Amino acid sequence: MKKEGQTTWLSVNSKLIRPLHNESDVPSVLLTMADITLQKEQQIKLRESNALRRTLIDSLPIGILVVDNDMNIVALNRPFCKMFKIDEPLKNLIGKSCLPYRKAILRNWGTSTFSEESILSDGKAGTKEFETLDDRTLKQGYFPFYHDNELKGHLWTFEDVTEQKMMDREILFAKEEAIKANLAKSEFLSNMSHELRTPLNGILGFSQLLELDGALTEQQRKFVLEILKGGRHLLDLINEILDLSRIETGKLKINKERVRVKDVINECINLVTPSSREKSIVIQSTFLDCPKNEILVDVIRLRQIILNLLDNAIKYNREGGKVTLTCGMKEGRLIIHVIDDGIGIPISEQERIFDPFYRLENHQVEGAGIGLSLVKQLILLMGGDISLKSTVGSGSDFSFWLPVHQTENQVLKDHESHEILQKARRDIHKILYVEDNPSNLALVKEILGAQRGYELRSATTGQEGLEKAKESGISLILLDIHLPDMTGFEVLDKLKQNDLTNHIPVIALSANAMQADIDKALARGFKEYITKPIHIRSFLRLVDKYL
Ligand code: ADP
Repeated sequence: MKKEGQTTWLSVNSKLIRPLHNESDVPSVLLTMADITLQKEQQIKLRESNALRRTLIDSLPIGILVVDNDMNIVALNRPFCKMFKIDEPLKNLIGKSCLPYRKAILRNWGTSTFSEESILSDGKAGTKEFETLDDRTLKQGYFPFYHDNELKGHLWTFEDVTEQKMMDREILFAKEEAIKANLAKSEFLSNMSHELRTPLNGILGFSQLLELDGALTEQQRKFVLEILKGGRHLLDLINEILDLSRIETGKLKINKERVRVKDVINECINLVTPSSREKSIVIQSTFLDCPKNEILVDVIRLRQIILNLLDNAIKYNREGGKVTLTCGMKEGRLIIHVIDDGIGIPISEQERIFDPFYRLENHQVEGAGIGLSLVKQLILLMGGDISLKSTVGSGSDFSFWLPVHQTENQVLKDHESHEILQKARRDIHKILYVEDNPSNLALVKEILGAQRGYELRSATTGQEGLEKAKESGISLILLDIHLPDMTGFEVLDKLKQNDLTNHIPVIALSANAMQADIDKALARGFKEYITKPIHIRSFLRLVDKYL
């Protein structure tokens, strides 16, 4: 220890120069001292560094093995010993050949992938996976190390990836199962939709016809409206379920039509009025800047959006509350607000309520949590957006905008639009309807029978349809897709192959409403695809288009 408190390391060497011959002799010794502080400090540092390296490699979650060019072990860590089931102390292994330890656990040792020659991977860094005798999978990384351009040794890392492999396999299996289940779901939805739409076509079709009948008493008209309302609600439910699956698969398409927004809004308000009355809720609407002309918009989707928002504004409102609906137009955007003074939504939840199946838990109202997510997806798909302002206890204001084009023409007055249906035609058009369901057949007969200028022929099988199509003067064919003897596609192909019938436009009429079915039919050569239940006005408009 020096005066300043510094430590100096000295190496002391002593050498006896004059040996003792008798007791009185004084020995002579040569003492040499060298300052070795620097070496000593380096030694300590090296020891510390070795201890750190040891701790470091032992604490790694992967096994490490380093060998020299003769495959003798230079370094290794505890995880490696654990993976290779080696019990000996680490220090005993240094200098030993690594090969017996590898052979002891490898399943395919000796094959071309794993042999003494191949484990060095031609001196190139890389990874491999191998199976052990006890069914584990180890992932091996190889790194050669060079010093002064000379290969000095080899380092391997080992990782037990058994669980990860198993999970990968399970995920793959689950994915395959999910794909299968999804296909089954789509098929189920398509079938269910078809089965429900067919009877609904009768319910909605005949009640629409009755609604147009001027001879009904006021009470009978009310009854008819109730049937229509119930039927439409059922139809909406079916459509909502189908939409969810279409959105999931990215197959939802937007179809624009000309409509008067005010009519759509009033129709929606009428639909929800009975449920609002049950809670003594008043619905008000203001159409200050509402477009007066018809606009081009997907009316089914618009109705769906407004109905969902109105439904919620009533469901999550208090007894005797108020709902206000406003409609305006600004810079090419249709803007609609649905405002309630109900329970409101906490700020923290305002984004999440648009997630599928997300519901707030603090109320007793029933629901599935799909309405708002469907609304948002639809609005985004139509190029618009939805926003929400809400205060707990005071109410909510859901507002959305859609880009819309106003058409040139003022919309027809209601009594004029009725006249479309009764428009006098100079010619008589023969239409052939191929359909096996008597109720559907009777409905179309009634719809066209109420018009002037149409003569309906019918056939209940594909074969009969093909025969009747050859009769002279058939100007349009309405064709069901599911016929008892052949599919509508087969009938269409045969019509196209025959010179007597290949010029006649053919419209598909089907209860299959999946977009894939519609696309398939249009691609095969159907002029149009009408889904049941038939909307009478749109149906007549389409029929007119091809005559
Ligand atoms: P559902 O009504 O079937 O639960 P929605 O997707 O329509 O599904 O709504 C999701 C959640 O958002 C509802 O469960 C409700 O908690 C909340 N919510 C929706 N509209 C309103 C509203 N007008 N006022 C208060 N809460 C609402």
